[in-house]
Amino acid sequence: VKERGRNGYALFKTEMEEKSLERILLENEMRKAIELEQFHIDYQPKMDITNNEVIGMEALVRWHHPELGRIPPNKFIPLAEETGLILPLGEWVLRHGCKQNKEWQRKGYKPLRISINMSVRQLAHPNIVEKIQEILTETELDPELLELEVTESVFADFDHAADTLQQLRDSGIHISIDDFGTGYSSFSYIKYLPVDTLKIDASFIRDIHHNEESQAIVQAVLTLARTLGMNVIAEGVESKEQLAILHEDGCNQGQGFLFSKPLSGQDFETYLIEAHKK
Ligand code: C2E
Ligand code: CA
Ligand code: CA
Ligand code: CA
Repeated sequence: VKERGRNGYALFKTEMEEKSLERILLENEMRKAIELEQFHIDYQPKMDITNNEVIGMEALVRWHHPELGRIPPNKFIPLAEETGLILPLGEWVLRHGCKQNKEWQRKGYKPLRISINMSVRQLAHPNIVEKIQEILTETELDPELLELEVTESVFADFDHAADTLQQLRDSGIHISIDDFGTGYSSFSYIKYLPVDTLKIDASFIRDIHHNEESQAIVQAVLTLARTLGMNVIAEGVESKEQLAILHEDGCNQGQGFLFSKPLSGQDFETYLIEAHKK
């Protein structure tokens, strides 16, 4: 609203009210959508870039609202985190993703690890370890075939993060640090973290072929990971130029549009079959 109101304050308040109305609407819609299970999951392949084989997939939640259309995760995940709805939504993603992965195994596809994004709030919940174990038992998925992606911020925001992750890891679940390099990563504390994989943030990959600093950071992460016995995956790989540099620098795993965009469950199966034929 560009027009000036009779007093600026009233106008400001109206805009504020509109904004929170939109949020309240969206929150209500999300609550309904969780109950009605109107979410679904896309799966993006993770690749071994040394031999171009699929090694796993990341589950990415999708919301297609019947009237509002597609709502991107960057819009509803933050709201779900603020409102606490991330707890039931995150649980749904975990259960549904594990179930789907088990189903692919039953169908005879080679065992692949599914990566599921975990919000801090979800991981900080006192019952999270039991909940995840319950879901694994219920879906009969081997814990080795589940990976949780957490961001560096969990270690800053929540005291028991390392303990919780260690417990999960003791049961065979893999842990990966998402968006690595963007958060509060001090290289000195990494050695204490119960982590299997560092996922290099897409922002460093985006300009790796034009920007020496980005390449230097990627190389530093690779060296660090090698020393600590951790695995590294590059996210947001879009071009052959980027892939060539990653390969040269000794990064063995990648994910991004170059290999495939996130796919529906059905399309992911087709992708597996096609990849196998090559
Ligand atoms: P993220 O975990 O960093 O996921 C990577 C995002 O990059 C995804 O966006 C993916 O579709 C996109 N992407 C993959 N390859 C490429 C590429 O080559 N180029 C570019 N430009 N983008 C690529 P998406 O699906 O919109 O998800 C956005 C964020 O929402 C995720 O970022 C994650 O933080 C969050 N999110 C998605 N699903 C879940 C979930 O089930 N639970 C939680 N807690 N968060 C989720
Ligand atoms: Ca992720
Ligand atoms: Ca990421
Ligand atoms: Ca991200």
